[in-house]
Amino acid sequence: MGVVVIDVIVVGGGPTGLMLAGELRLHGVHVVVLERESEPLPYVRALGLHVRSIEMMDQRGLLDRFLAHGRQYPVGGFFAAIEKPAPERLDTTHPYVLGIPQTTTDRLLAERAVELGAEIRRGCELVGLRQDEHGVTVELGNGGTRGDGGVAARGGKELRSRYLVGCDGGRSTVRKLLGVGFPGEPSRVETLLGEMELTAAPKTLAAVMAEVRRIHKRFGAMPLGDEVYRVVVPAEGVSEDRSVPPTLEEFKRQLRAFAGTDFGAHSPRWLSRFGDATRQAERYRAGRVLLAGDAAHIHPPTGGQGLNLGVQDAFNLGWKLAAEVAGWAPDGLLDSYHTERHPVAADVLHNTRAQIELMSTEPGPRSVRRLLSELMDFDEVNRYLTEKITAIGVRYDFGDGHELLGRRMRDVRLKRGRLYELMHGGRGLLLDQTGRLSVAGWEDRIDHVTDVSEELDVPAVLLRPDGHVAWAGEDQPDLLTVIPRWFGTRIG
Ligand SMILES: Cc1cc2nc3c(=O)[nH]c(=O)nc-3n(C[C@H](O)[C@H](O)[C@H](O)COP(=O)(O)OP(=O)(O)OC[C@H]3O[C@@H](n4cnc5c(N)ncnc54)[C@H](O)[C@@H]3O)c2cc1C
Repeated sequence: MGVVVIDVIVVGGGPTGLMLAGELRLHGVHVVVLERESEPLPYVRALGLHVRSIEMMDQRGLLDRFLAHGRQYPVGGFFAAIEKPAPERLDTTHPYVLGIPQTTTDRLLAERAVELGAEIRRGCELVGLRQDEHGVTVELGNGGTRGDGGVAARGGKELRSRYLVGCDGGRSTVRKLLGVGFPGEPSRVETLLGEMELTAAPKTLAAVMAEVRRIHKRFGAMPLGDEVYRVVVPAEGVSEDRSVPPTLEEFKRQLRAFAGTDFGAHSPRWLSRFGDATRQAERYRAGRVLLAGDAAHIHPPTGGQGLNLGVQDAFNLGWKLAAEVAGWAPDGLLDSYHTERHPVAADVLHNTRAQIELMSTEPGPRSVRRLLSELMDFDEVNRYLTEKITAIGVRYDFGDGHELLGRRMRDVRLKRGRLYELMHGGRGLLLDQTGRLSVAGWEDRIDHVTDVSEELDVPAVLLRPDGHVAWAGEDQPDLLTVIPRWFGTRIG
């Protein structure tokens, strides 16, 4: 058995894997990211970050970089593309969607991971995997990039680590090699997506688009400048192999079928297709191997949630896995990754299924859509759905207690600075208005902050490194019963 030198191998350099690598590096974990593609692909899938992801970037000191490359949009109108204004009283200091292409998000997360000391090995494909009680052995491919989701020829080269996380996308090789089930529904419809030039006059184009979109919600052309548009149109059927890109001719045919014109489409930058399969891994952990992001759950892009869900998985998992590697993780901490994140993704799968039904052109679903649209005029309904899509409504089950328990906490003003500025290091934090509490014995894992300037409706809260409230109260003995559950035994 070879010597274990790598703490964690992250398979897949998409947003989930890159976020995770950065989180692990915050805690000094030796991490190597294996990415099959030798260069980033040009396809732009996700177009933005929702509130919870924006908050996370703020909590890690990354938000300025993202704001510099993105545009802020109102949070309203995302659920099933039902056009509504943003709800009132959204409990966040970042009440907007940050429009930013996934290619930029991936680049920024890669830069951050590398700055923190992660090693990203491109053109490196995992083709085999086995584990024992001490670690995981990975077999690498022969360096040839397949790009079609298939497994490359075995290369005979091996790497070994203590843990491995499969962040290798919806067709995850890691998940398949583990034999973890991925139950759900196959794609029923397929959509073409690409960037190309359109010669039609912008006003005519906008008018035709608006007319078609009255019925067909999976149709659109978003101007990107210089006559280049991001075009979305339903495909004719469901293809056998979605990694084979459509042709420009296929696009033009579908545009003519839906809009009566192909808008003079030409000079494509890239063309792709995506389906609406909805599936979730039965378990997110098998021994020393874990799954995160699309490798653990896939669903249609409705509401723009997939990337967000993946980086939020990484935010939940990073500190727990780091604690395991460091040796202070209490029993059950790593398993709580599945317990907490599996229900969250299951809920997203439900809401995307619902959104797909609400976007159907059939008369029944269109009536349901009309009714829901009316209901969304009630601020409470609008807010409930917006909290779902933005993920600020997520509440982990930590048992009964204060209404903040299990929820993430919004930013809070301190006498000097803000709460989120104190979370850059990914440590636990006791926010204490009483000034009487103590985290003695855990100072290496938990910071203690007392200079709160804003009135909170609770005397003190204990935040985990992912910003979720682990405890709320004012009683020291009570606090001491909770700390070990998340932060292990005290030193000394
Ligand atoms: C059209 C479309 C629009 C979307 N819009 C949005 C949106 O607006 N908002 C949103 O939040 N989400 C959106 N999504 C979803 C989002 O793109 C995905 O959820 C997100 O990319 C998942 O990130 P990931 O890192 O988990 O997986 P991926 O991005 O798929 O990354 C997986 C990586 O693993 C690599 N890999 C795979 N196999 C191996 C292997 N064996 N060895 C080494 N490397 C491997 C791949 O090359 C890839 O780089 C959209 C998706 C589509 C299709």
